[in-house]
Amino acid sequence: IRRTKVADVLRQTEIGKEVNVKGWVRTRRGNKFVNFIALNDGSSIHNLQIVADVPKFDEELIKRITTGSAISVNGILSESAGSGQKVEIQAVSIEVIGDCNADEYPLQPKKHSLEFLREIAHLRFRTNTFGAITRIRHAMIFAVHNFFSQKGFYNIHTPIITASDAEGAGEMFRVTTLDVNNIPKNEEGAVDFSQDFFGKSTNLTVSGQLEGELAALAMSEIYTFGPTFRAENSNTTRHLAEFWMIEPEMAFYDLNDNMDLAEEFTKYLMNYALENCMEDLEFLSKRLQEEEKGKKAEDRSMELIEKLRFVVENDYVRLTYSEAIDILMNSKPQKKGKFQYPVNGFGSDLQAEHERFLVEKHFKKPVILTDYPMSIKAFYMKQSDDGKTVRAMDVLFPQIGEIIGGSQREESYDKLLERMRALHLPEKEMYWYLDTRRFGSVPHSGFGLGFERLMLFVTGMTNIRDVIPFPRSPKNAEF
Ligand code: ATP
Ligand code: MG
Ligand code: MG
Ligand code: MG
Repeated sequence: IRRTKVADVLRQTEIGKEVNVKGWVRTRRGNKFVNFIALNDGSSIHNLQIVADVPKFDEELIKRITTGSAISVNGILSESAGSGQKVEIQAVSIEVIGDCNADEYPLQPKKHSLEFLREIAHLRFRTNTFGAITRIRHAMIFAVHNFFSQKGFYNIHTPIITASDAEGAGEMFRVTTLDVNNIPKNEEGAVDFSQDFFGKSTNLTVSGQLEGELAALAMSEIYTFGPTFRAENSNTTRHLAEFWMIEPEMAFYDLNDNMDLAEEFTKYLMNYALENCMEDLEFLSKRLQEEEKGKKAEDRSMELIEKLRFVVENDYVRLTYSEAIDILMNSKPQKKGKFQYPVNGFGSDLQAEHERFLVEKHFKKPVILTDYPMSIKAFYMKQSDDGKTVRAMDVLFPQIGEIIGGSQREESYDKLLERMRALHLPEKEMYWYLDTRRFGSVPHSGFGLGFERLMLFVTGMTNIRDVIPFPRSPKNAEF
């Protein structure tokens, strides 16, 4: 008989039917008459209970069914007397596919700390927590494509090896074909990186935006969803060196249209999780609530599912950066009385603590800040008539701070060129970008949503290394 996945078995109602299941043993307990095996194959947060009448089986076989071993079971679908599941499997035959030495297996049938699981990242898929996160991550990827596809956006693959630095933040990983022992030098004796990639200076992309604009200014509405690389020199719980970004780019959208899309999109994703991932969310919520028990009331965060509903049900507050600065200069965060990084008026770049204060304490709603100082934002943003601000928007979420960064783009060739010259950007090499503003330029906008920041919010995890299968950060790159 063909294998049935555990999630499908748990939904079945044909009592008496014979099924085959395969998976990994979470626990085996019982006595010399009857054993109960909890089996998981990744398809559900729930384990399937296998009931084995011990005298019917070889003693040696039963001993090999240890936590971590892989087994195949043929058995009869039966009603479960115990609490929890409606059905269980009465085992007819059991085969051990892969033995597991229980003494050496790092995972025990108990709750492990996330820190410990980070140290055994190669095995953490085997835990309930990472099973849940992995399934939710999959559902969110699917939801992203669903949302844009339904709206008529085209998915564009933007390049991973590029010659441009969209953000100008100097966080690029260089890509080179040069022999590191023999890097060419220029006349002044400095290393000549212009020869990186057969005569071009290249790096890993920090954003697909600039290339995305090329597509949007022909296809109207596009999005990219690809890996993004930033050589972040800080070890924060919100930054990875390799993360995934969703970047829609739309022709004929102004900043208001852009904000509307960002709000609709994030609400859609929360709704999708609530409608499709409830069992996993409930599991994660319980885990979080256990951790919160020891905390003081004011330090506790909102219950996970309540928090997702909170985003779906509230209109995001929209205000300018300058208005936010006024609020921040006139408020004291409750606990310490002052911010770790003081806000010094117009021009200050906001830190996560300021963003979270606005969302969690001041407005108690998600916030979209617009019209940031030109000096702290990237060159491509549309300049306002005041000469000081740009049509930027950051979407701020509870627990996360900045989850989206976006803007209306500068569509004027002259203004864009002027700004590029002021920042000493290589206008010759970026002719392809400037050309979009020479040939049929139109108002257009876009934004970038950090997929792992979204995942942090949806799962309630607090460390970004726990929501991506293989985190890349200065301390995590073993495999
Ligand atoms: P931050 O201020 O948090 O460093 P940023 O302003 O540098 O973020 P953007 O260039 O605006 O980031 O990128 C768009 C989005 O990508 C951000 O809003 C965030 O969600 C996400 N993001 C940026 N850097 C990282 C990173 N190193 N790891 C994970 N996600 C990131
Ligand atoms: Mg940054
Ligand atoms: Mg930022
Ligand atoms: Mg940003």
